[in-house]
Amino acid sequence: MRDIKELSLKELEVKLLSWGKPGYHARQVLSWIYGKGAYEFAKMSDLPVTLRDLLTDEFYILGLRLEDLQRSSDGTDKFLFELKDGNLIEAVGIPAARRVTGCISSQAGCKFACSFCASGLKGFKRNLTCGEMLDEVLYLKHNLEKGQLTHIVFMGTGEPLDNYDNLLKAVRVINSPEAFNIGSRKITISTCGIVPGIRRLQGESLQVELSISLHAADDSLRSRIMPINRKYPLSDLIRCCREYSEKTNRQVTFEYILVKGLNSDLASAKKLSGLLSSLRLAKVNLIPANPVNGSTEKMLPPSEQEVSAFKEYLFKTGVNVTLRKERGQDIQAACGQLRLKHEKN
Ligand code: SAH
Repeated sequence: MRDIKELSLKELEVKLLSWGKPGYHARQVLSWIYGKGAYEFAKMSDLPVTLRDLLTDEFYILGLRLEDLQRSSDGTDKFLFELKDGNLIEAVGIPAARRVTGCISSQAGCKFACSFCASGLKGFKRNLTCGEMLDEVLYLKHNLEKGQLTHIVFMGTGEPLDNYDNLLKAVRVINSPEAFNIGSRKITISTCGIVPGIRRLQGESLQVELSISLHAADDSLRSRIMPINRKYPLSDLIRCCREYSEKTNRQVTFEYILVKGLNSDLASAKKLSGLLSSLRLAKVNLIPANPVNGSTEKMLPPSEQEVSAFKEYLFKTGVNVTLRKERGQDIQAACGQLRLKHEKN
């Protein structure tokens, strides 16, 4: 059995023609899947029964099963899914004032072992297929408690740029009018700093948002909390981001988790401001830390005063800065935590 979502509109048309069926049914099939959220071909009532049977024999639509769901009082929905091979992944729906964001996983587990993040605690399992990433989006689209999915961020488990080809294929489907029709500027790819992946992305003519998980503005601290920094140190990463924003004319966002006693004092703010001074189109998104059980780093958010002072320093030195509001605090919000709770080994 194959995942029908791995096929483009064109490929599906070719398949239907090979069965002696008119190609135009392909559009109808996609509209049932993406528009109406049909998980069974049998329900596609305007298709000939013979075609529904042929499709059922060869393809499936949804490759995951809901294992757990946590609904936060602030509207955040956190889904835990089981994949066909038993691996578990998480996806989150986050409603805000004028948008609803789907946070999507790109890998089962993670190999990058950032000290503050729960996703890597049980190691890496495997890349997700394009169809599995689309499964997450599809499920979210039709099962959120509140609102319509408007934005997608690849900020769930895993490193999207370490699963480049499947990611790009999924992004194009999310973007395409026959499928989810979510504008590329509403799709964010977040990376721990895979320099060759960022370079590749720069060459795609795609207007997606790029977000860098920075979290430290000097190499010794960043290498300690994010081991990938030993391979791609800050000088390379920042140079690559500068080229990216110059070539694409797009702003790059830098995520910075504020951890008490680690990277939240004014000396750190000064280093951060200095590090980004050569970038014309940059934004810093500050995130007060979410405590993670079992992480190697003692993760506590700084006081509100310290957070404001940090933000104020960046602002005064000309850095475009925002503060991310914590969501889903009551439902194990930090990345990878729900999965961790369920993983047996
Ligand atoms: N591998 C990609 C995608 C994972 S998203 C990347 O590194 O960007 C990683 C993001 O999750 C971090 O930048 C941060 O914004 C968030 N995150 C992870 N652990 C967190 C924690 N304990 N508290 C708050 N945010 C966290």
